Amino acid sequence: MGKKVKMKMRICPVCGSRRLERASVFSGWLTPEVWFCPDCGYRGPVYGEIEVDPSELGGGGENSPRGGREGDR
Ligand SMILES: [Zn+2]
Repeated sequence: MGKKVKMKMRICPVCGSRRLERASVFSGWLTPEVWFCPDCGYRGPVYGEIEVDPSELGGGGENSPRGGREGDR
């Protein structure tokens, strides 16, 4: 494994929360994307961006099949 994969993540520009959600009311084409932060209540088109290691995100659960299970016959 040589390459480290970094994931880009949107964060709240106000409090830095990672739980930024898309809150666009209209799913139309003329409206810009609006983001909503449940932690501080921020709502707007601006968001921050950070790079994170995907391995720190989840519980480190890569689905790599161990042992060769071939069907359950
Ligand atoms: Zn926030």
